[in-house]
Amino acid sequence: MKTGKTQGYVLTFRCINCGKHGVLAQYPSDGMESEQRIRARIYQVSCNSCGWTGDACGLSAIRISHTTELKARAAGQGPRL
Ligand SMILES: [Zn+2]
Repeated sequence: MKTGKTQGYVLTFRCINCGKHGVLAQYPSDGMESEQRIRARIYQVSCNSCGWTGDACGLSAIRISHTTELKARAAGQGPRL
C-alpha cells in the first residue's frame, strides 16, 4: 500500500492577478492520460505568489508535467467534476 505519494500531473498556469507563473493545479491519475484529456478539464487553483484562487481551464496551462510524488494534502485541488 502506498502512503503519502500519488501519481498524477502537475499543471502550471500564469496568475491572472499578479502575472507570475506560480499557479499550480494537481491532477491525480493512476496511469498515463493524454494531454488532450488533461487540458479539457477545469481546475481549482491557487497562486503561490499572491494567494489568488479560482478556476483555470487546462487549455491555458503553460506547462504540464507528470509526477509520481503528488503530495497527498493537495488532493483537494483535483479536477472539478
Ligand atoms: Zn498571483
